[in-house]
Amino acid sequence: MNLITEGINTENLPDSRGYFGEYGGSYLPDALAKVMKEVEEAYAKISQDPDFIRELKDLNEHFTGRPSPVYHAKRLTAAAGGAEIYLKREDLNHTGAHKINHCLGEVLLAKHMGKKKVIAETGAGQHGVALATAAALLGLECDIYMGEIDVKKEAPNVSRMRVLGAKVVSVTRGTRTLKDAVDAAFEAYLQDPVTQIYCIGSVVGPHPFPMMVRDFQSIIGMEAREQMQSYAGSLPDAVVACVGGGSNAMGIFSAFLDDKETALYGVEPAGKGLETGMHAATIAKGTPGILHGFRSLVLQDKNGEPLPVYSIASGLDYPGVGPQHSYLHSIGRVNYRTATDREAVEAFYALSRMEGIIPALESSHAVAYAVKLAKELGKGKKILVNLSGRGDKDIDFVMEHYPLEEYEPEETLKDGYDEFLKHIGGEKS
Ligand SMILES: *Cc1c(COP(=O)(O)O)cnc(C)c1O
Repeated sequence: MNLITEGINTENLPDSRGYFGEYGGSYLPDALAKVMKEVEEAYAKISQDPDFIRELKDLNEHFTGRPSPVYHAKRLTAAAGGAEIYLKREDLNHTGAHKINHCLGEVLLAKHMGKKKVIAETGAGQHGVALATAAALLGLECDIYMGEIDVKKEAPNVSRMRVLGAKVVSVTRGTRTLKDAVDAAFEAYLQDPVTQIYCIGSVVGPHPFPMMVRDFQSIIGMEAREQMQSYAGSLPDAVVACVGGGSNAMGIFSAFLDDKETALYGVEPAGKGLETGMHAATIAKGTPGILHGFRSLVLQDKNGEPLPVYSIASGLDYPGVGPQHSYLHSIGRVNYRTATDREAVEAFYALSRMEGIIPALESSHAVAYAVKLAKELGKGKKILVNLSGRGDKDIDFVMEHYPLEEYEPEETLKDGYDEFLKHIGGEKS
């Protein structure tokens, strides 16, 4: 009995060893396996504790601002010329994305376990900021491990974390990026697993994290499923979400897994194109392997070393993917597709110009695919897109690298957005 996911069918997955079919599990040295067992036991207890549930619900409502609305994107729908497009507005959450959902859950769990400090690694800094926010709110210390290169590159997020009271630990070894930050954070965790707890930033890592993060994110799907029925009059014919590690996608998919009439689409970053090798499309191009303590599809070389990955959206460039996604792909319940950098940027501009909503570049991948799908499904159908976050963080980057003047050639824009939208598969309506 899990009160966090009450009302949805998790199909009893993962199993008691943390597997979704052949994916998931826990591949760790003994010392770490022991502390993960403690986390698992604490979560099992707390997920049935009405006080914990009440506290989490209260924070979701009064701190994050849940429920986030579902919004009918009428102008985008008209331009795409097909199915009605609806957006689940996770961008309106406090801190501007879905990550706050699992960070609040994880930090609240830490507090109930009597921990003093939460630790994590971060790449672009989004997980670090969300965790630092939750830690400040609940009065826990917070150490964020970050590669030295990322510390320099992501200065605004580093400042945000520091303002919020977190300590940003700059990792100077190896490649000085995310991979080394993960190692450093795990080492720090092992040195003191009693007062600290590691908080993973997506539905990845060893059991119980893929399950726990999914459960905390499942509120997105639970809300959206009801909202579609009351606001749009029926369940959606399709749900679309971007997939990096896969937490926002699992969050919205979870509530629809039993609705066999609702097709589910996960959109991975094709970067500069799948054929160029510069992408992070793990399900499209990966093979089974073990990464960061769990088994899943992995982008890896012949020796099982993770391949370098790339995406315009720094929240999506991970060489692995949550084990439940690999499983849902293997049984064919979720369809995995891709969107390129270019398609994402076009969707970024299109949604901004047509709906007054600037999406995160991560979320823009889902919007880009939804526009294509809208045309494919045709009029009378409904598509629900998980708009995982807002794009304020991406504005400077997009304007510098994809300047409007160059990016929207005269001939595209002078004929209006119909012409513009052809790039992402839409047509005159
Ligand atoms: C981090 C992030 C993602 C990718 O993470 P998932 O675990 O795949 O959801 C997507 N969108 C936004 C806005 C993010 O910040």
